[in-house]
Amino acid sequence: MNTEHPRKKPVLISTCLLGLNCRYDGKRRAHPQLDALREGFLLIPACPEQMGGLATPRPPAEIESGNGQDVLEGRSRVLDSTGNDLSENFRRGAQASLELARFHSCDTAILKERSPSCGVRQITRKEKVLDEQGVTAALLNREGILLFSDEEDDLMRRLGEN
Ligand code: SF4
Repeated sequence: MNTEHPRKKPVLISTCLLGLNCRYDGKRRAHPQLDALREGFLLIPACPEQMGGLATPRPPAEIESGNGQDVLEGRSRVLDSTGNDLSENFRRGAQASLELARFHSCDTAILKERSPSCGVRQITRKEKVLDEQGVTAALLNREGILLFSDEEDDLMRRLGEN
């Protein structure tokens, strides 16, 4: 009898989407389809801001200008609401997320939209929503990892196709 179970596809996921307490505001916000995601995939949690050395809760932060790629290349900074420059924390957290993805052979990630780290399609700046990527999303995208927003329509079907 074959007792081997087929291995689920490993998918990197923003830790806060599991409902864990790592958001800047200390609130829990699990993804509404978390049970189905757990059933279908091997979820590998990554919180770039915590892995970059930041505490929870923490003051909100924004990319000062441009996008995550600009922060990676030193053309822009991430500042928190008290004016602290967190750029190095964000770069370190992005790199740690990439290493985690590679360690677990993830070629796909589901990331929290509008975060200055995890935003796949959007970030916020001065209370405006901008069509730009966060720092970790930019690095993972640059390194060939397929990104899905947590707000993607039909997320389960689209993940299954890839
Ligand atoms: Fe951490 Fe990303 Fe969630 Fe922010 S959005 S709490 S950086 S996992």
